[in-house]
Amino acid sequence: MKVITIALGGNALGNNPKEQQENIDKAVPSLVDLITQGHKIILTHGNGPQVGMIYKAFDFASAHTDKICRFELQECTAMSQGYIGYHLQKGIRKELQRLGMPWHVSTLVSQVEVYRHDPSFQNPDKPIGDFYRKEEAEAIMNADPSQIFKEDAGRGWRRVVPSPKPVRIVEAESILNLLDHKFIVITCGGGGVPVVKDEDGNYQGVSAVIDKDHSAALLADLVEAHYLIILTPVDRVALHYGTPQQRELTEIGSSEARRYIKEGHFAAGSMLPKIEAALRFVEGGRGRQAVITSLEKAHLALSGKIGTRIYKS
Ligand code: ADP
Ligand code: MG
Repeated sequence: MKVITIALGGNALGNNPKEQQENIDKAVPSLVDLITQGHKIILTHGNGPQVGMIYKAFDFASAHTDKICRFELQECTAMSQGYIGYHLQKGIRKELQRLGMPWHVSTLVSQVEVYRHDPSFQNPDKPIGDFYRKEEAEAIMNADPSQIFKEDAGRGWRRVVPSPKPVRIVEAESILNLLDHKFIVITCGGGGVPVVKDEDGNYQGVSAVIDKDHSAALLADLVEAHYLIILTPVDRVALHYGTPQQRELTEIGSSEARRYIKEGHFAAGSMLPKIEAALRFVEGGRGRQAVITSLEKAHLALSGKIGTRIYKS
């Protein structure tokens, strides 16, 4: 039996609750199939589009009525863990029942510690939420200078927030206990709620969004996973992505991956954190492999027939 950490991309989950549940329901048989193949799975997910939507909803509503207040990003991430976790629990439970499998499924709201002095607090660069026109973004920044917008790869302007590196999963013991008792655990959603330690040693939430790919590598370490599977909208990682020279990669060694990073093949904020997370994972222990592929192909991820496999070289 192998332990597999699976990270679902927020961008593959659709734009509203209906689409999200449909996309999850389509992917679930692939995920549960990994258990049927004899493996133990633990899930995490992204929340970029969803946390942006939740933040904006409260921000917008609070400007129109004093009965609704604004929520900071840490609370919005906690809400997104519940919202996405609920759909995953629902979808997975249905499939487990259909197959008569004895597993339980549970979402764990989780905090992830980050360093107070992480450089990203001075240089916010993680895009969240939807796209704006330049004039709209400038108007929002003028009205509220704490909100920073940047142009996102030619697609429009998006709000950017600090994305500190995850250091430690606060609920680590709970996760390990559940995993030991036939629970499929959904945790560290949206990278986890980012927290820092105060002078008294207590955790305080900070307004930032951790990249879920980095937290997925931390989670995979914690549960001593053999595989880290990162599910995203593309079937394979490519060189010269989006150009006529595009070439899909079926497998890459870690030294080759580092060379491609230097050559700039992986976009910052999308594919780069996945490759970095894969490298951190495969180099952190013996016999580990990472696979990057699309949501609906998850069940083929370990067969080598699909996806990009990353191994230590
Ligand atoms: P997720 O929500 O899964 O984290 P992202 O949008 O952050 O999704 O990252 C996946 C996206 O990265 C792909 O949909 C693709 O558009 C983009 N991408 C950037 N560089 C590459 C590359 N070299 N190969 C494949 N996809 C790439
Ligand atoms: Mg992403």
